[in-house]
Amino acid sequence: MIEVTCFESVHSGPNILILGSIHGDEKCGSVAIDEAIQNFQSGKWALKKGKITFIPRANRAAYDRDVRQVEYNLNRIFDSHQNISKEHQIAKLLEKYIENADYVIDLHSVYSGDTPFVFLDSDGEVMKNLCASLSLPYIMMGWNEIYGGSQEKDTISFAISRGKDGITIECGSHKNSESNEVSKRSVREVLEFFEMIDAEKREKILQKFVQVEKLFRRGKNAEFTKNFKNFDTITHGESIGFSDDKEIFAENDGYIILPKAYGSVGDEWYYTGRDL
Ligand SMILES: [Zn+2]
Repeated sequence: MIEVTCFESVHSGPNILILGSIHGDEKCGSVAIDEAIQNFQSGKWALKKGKITFIPRANRAAYDRDVRQVEYNLNRIFDSHQNISKEHQIAKLLEKYIENADYVIDLHSVYSGDTPFVFLDSDGEVMKNLCASLSLPYIMMGWNEIYGGSQEKDTISFAISRGKDGITIECGSHKNSESNEVSKRSVREVLEFFEMIDAEKREKILQKFVQVEKLFRRGKNAEFTKNFKNFDTITHGESIGFSDDKEIFAENDGYIILPKAYGSVGDEWYYTGRDL
């Protein structure tokens, strides 16, 4: 039901799980994982220590249909006690792999915006240092505080709840093939960080840490005032859009995060954030 490829060194080291296409229309992770598997199989990369498990197409049915999900958002139903959809069955299978790993790297892309970023919800030094080592310009924090109170667990909050750790990397837009390159580079840099493969020389890029503050859900006839892109800056009092026949204004200066122009009532519409 799930494609899994593992590589294990004779030398002990970290146990890493890398996931692609938790959302079926976010294919950059699958592309990067397929290439990484090829790199190990061809001998281009040699695993120096530890174990790596690749799951390139976690939600295969959604991947094949090029949709985010078949029935349920797979990245909101970990640790659910229900078994009411294909995604719930996949989540149960993936939970075993997450519980067996030390660190989980979950590769995604976004609907709108080409700027790649990381979701960092861990307090652990290892994940902070990992984020700082990656060539990704934005590190987004505070996601767990938005979803933490609810039953909606994603891959990484599930991992953290089991004493594991991890990050979600958003590699750019589904529609821009540059997200494939970001994803490939990120997989390589993760393995370099853990000293599991030889490191290539590279320049460190400038990074910004952003605190995600609030989730806004889509109301009736929700529509943005303008064509917002991820990390567009907003100023206090600026018109964001209309929802439930009311105009919505920015509550603070900061950023608009993950705006989705289309969706159903009750879906995540956008988030706001600020510099840390
Ligand atoms: Zn996603």
